[in-house]
Amino acid sequence: MAAFPTKNKKTTKRSPGGKPSVKHKPNKPSAATCGVCGSQLHGVPRRSTVGMAKLAKTEKRPERPFGGVLCHACVMAIVKEKARLKAGTITPREVDFRHLKYVKA
Ligand SMILES: [Zn+2]
Repeated sequence: MAAFPTKNKKTTKRSPGGKPSVKHKPNKPSAATCGVCGSQLHGVPRRSTVGMAKLAKTEKRPERPFGGVLCHACVMAIVKEKARLKAGTITPREVDFRHLKYVKA
């Protein structure tokens, strides 16, 4: 059994002629999640494809490296690992394997 109702929300409205008509509201897309830890991303609107197209580029995701892909905590860890790898204080084997894809990018 689904945890959330899969059907669209129904509202009854009265037409100008007086007849009631049932309108269906389209479902909202699910919230964007972090690619590493799966937590919900803030600053990314829950809108349809058309709704997203109406927004400016900077309104769609945070303006920082990996904005709209990773959460702030994961970005912080990846930036640290990248700097430490470059300085030679850690080896690639010591980096979290889930971060390797982003550290190399
Ligand atoms: Zn994360």
